[in-house]
Formats: sequence, structure tokens, C-alpha cells
Amino acid sequence: MLLREVEYARPTSVQDAVRLLSEHDGARALAGGQTLINVMKARAASPDVLIDLQDLEELKGIDLAPDGTLGLGAMVTYSEVMASAEARARPILGEVCAQIADVQVRNRGTIGGNVCSNDPTNHLPPLMVALGATMHIAGSSGERAVPAEEFFLGVYLTAAGPGELLTKISVPPGKSDGFAAVAIGKDGTCIVNAAASVNGSARIAIGCVDAVPVLLRADPAEDDAVRSAVRAASLDPPSDVHASADYRRHLAEIVAVRAVAQARGKH
Ligand SMILES: Cc1cc2nc3c(=O)[nH]c(=O)nc-3n(C[C@H](O)[C@H](O)[C@H](O)COP(=O)(O)OP(=O)(O)OC[C@H]3O[C@@H](n4cnc5c(N)ncnc54)[C@H](O)[C@@H]3O)c2cc1C
Repeated sequence: MLLREVEYARPTSVQDAVRLLSEHDGARALAGGQTLINVMKARAASPDVLIDLQDLEELKGIDLAPDGTLGLGAMVTYSEVMASAEARARPILGEVCAQIADVQVRNRGTIGGNVCSNDPTNHLPPLMVALGATMHIAGSSGERAVPAEEFFLGVYLTAAGPGELLTKISVPPGKSDGFAAVAIGKDGTCIVNAAASVNGSARIAIGCVDAVPVLLRADPAEDDAVRSAVRAASLDPPSDVHASADYRRHLAEIVAVRAVAQARGKH
């Protein structure tokens, strides 16, 4: 289906991009276009102006600080994460990016677009919450940093509001991480997913069961403690053609245990 007519701008600085986003009420940032162009084709979104982020060098690149903190530019693609020597400092990032859709989507889709679209079935929102990442947001009044667990506000809604851009994601050092999902077919949309990071206790973030990832903490040494933590969260997931709410609650326990087992190095 053809797109509705839309204005297009391709700024070369974050400052100009933020100015353009603030000047036009109907403006939307365009990253890899793997979600946005599809929803525009389906007429589910109809922006007046697309602000293409492709030429923003400040949003590209992956750097590893001496203290082990990874800086991932918002416009870094999944394929770039998978190929990056620096990103291997936190190997789960490349492992999870490799599970997203297919090679075409991985070559175009960006980590910034993934978290900013905050589709509850996406892979990266629970991962970023479990890893304790920090999201860097630029707006007309300057920059701010938001912890991942406060970034996701609702379905398709994040702390990067109108007129703002996610510029970078910082991921603290660590290696004891895991991710598990039950998807619709191989590499398909997740029915339930869970990410875990173990550093003393386990930080577990469950996806697809609520509008935003559900963050839990549990003793990683005992599978029963992980299951109990999931049960104690009283999850209220949706029912749809792929899974009932009860089945999703059941899967949430299973993927949480698997993610923690991988994080402990026991998978
Ligand atoms: C066939 C198919 C299967 C897929 N399967 C999966 C899957 O299994 N798991 C998964 O996680 N994803 C999946 N996706 C989605 C894919 O990962 C998208 O790449 C991702 O959701 C959006 O990234 P993008 O770079 O394409 O962003 P775009 O589509 O360009 O943008 C998405 C949204 O984020 C906003 N945005 C983008 N970047 C920024 C920024 N820096 N600051 C502020 N706002 C921004 C845009 O304005 C837009 O609202 C799939 C997509 C397709 C086409």
C-alpha cells in the first residue's frame, strides 16, 4: 500500500533534529523504519513530517569506557551490535539481537527504535530493564538520563516524549545475564519473554505480560525462589489467539527460571 503524502527532513545534528521535532506537532522520528513505515502503510499512524535520524553521527557507534560501561548510540542496528567487539563486553546484547526477526529487519532496525516503540512483545525493553541500563534523552531544554525501569511508561509510550530524542543507552558492566522467550514460531513475535541479570540477587524483567516490563528480584540460587517471585507479582497478562492469560502466567515462570539459569551459567 502507498504511504500518505508526508514531509521529510534529514537533519545533521541532534540540536536540529530536536528543533524540527518540537516545531511540528505531527512530526515523528524515523530510525530504521521497521515499525514506523509499516504502521504508516496500515494507516495506524499518520505523521505530517518524518525526521530521518540517518545522518546523526552522534547517535551512531558503540563505545566501551575504561570502567566497562557500554555506550550504544540509539541508531546502532541489531546487526552492528552482533558484529561489535565492544558489545561483547556484555554478550547477552548480541545474543538477543540475533533472535530478533530476520536478517533484513536486523540490518535496518535500531536499538533506539526498538525501545522507543515499546511494543510490549519486543525483545529489548525487558533486556534493558534487567541489565539496569540508562537511557539518555535530548530535548529542547537539554539532556537527561532516565533508568530503563522508568523509561517504559505504557504500550507505545516512553519517557522520550514529543519533541525529544533518545540519543544513547548506557549499559553497566556485567556478564551474568540470560534471556529466554517462547515465541510464535522460530524467531517470531514473543508470547512471553524474560531477561535476567545476576549480581548477588537476580534482576528479572518479564515481557509481554503487561504494558511495560515487570521487574522482579529473586534469589538466583533456587528455581523455586524465582517461580515464587513471578507468582507473587500477580501478573495480569492479556489473552489472545496465541495464548490465554493463564498460559502466559505459566510461561512467565518457565522463561524466568530459564533466563536466571543462563545468567548463572547453568543452561
Ligand atoms: C517482520 C518484522 C518482525 C519483527 N519482529 C520483532 C521481534 O520479534 N522482536 C522485536 O523486538 N522487534 C521485532 N520487530 C520490530 C523491529 O525490531 C523494529 O526494528 C523496531 O521495533 C523499531 O526499530 P526501528 O529502528 O525500525 O524504528 P522505527 O520504526 O523507525 O521507529 C519506531 C518508533 O520509535 C520512534 N523512534 C525511533 N528512534 C527514536 C529515537 N532515537 N528517539 C525517539 N524516538 C525514536 C519512532 O518515531 C517510532 O515511533 C519486527 C519488525 C518486523 C518488520
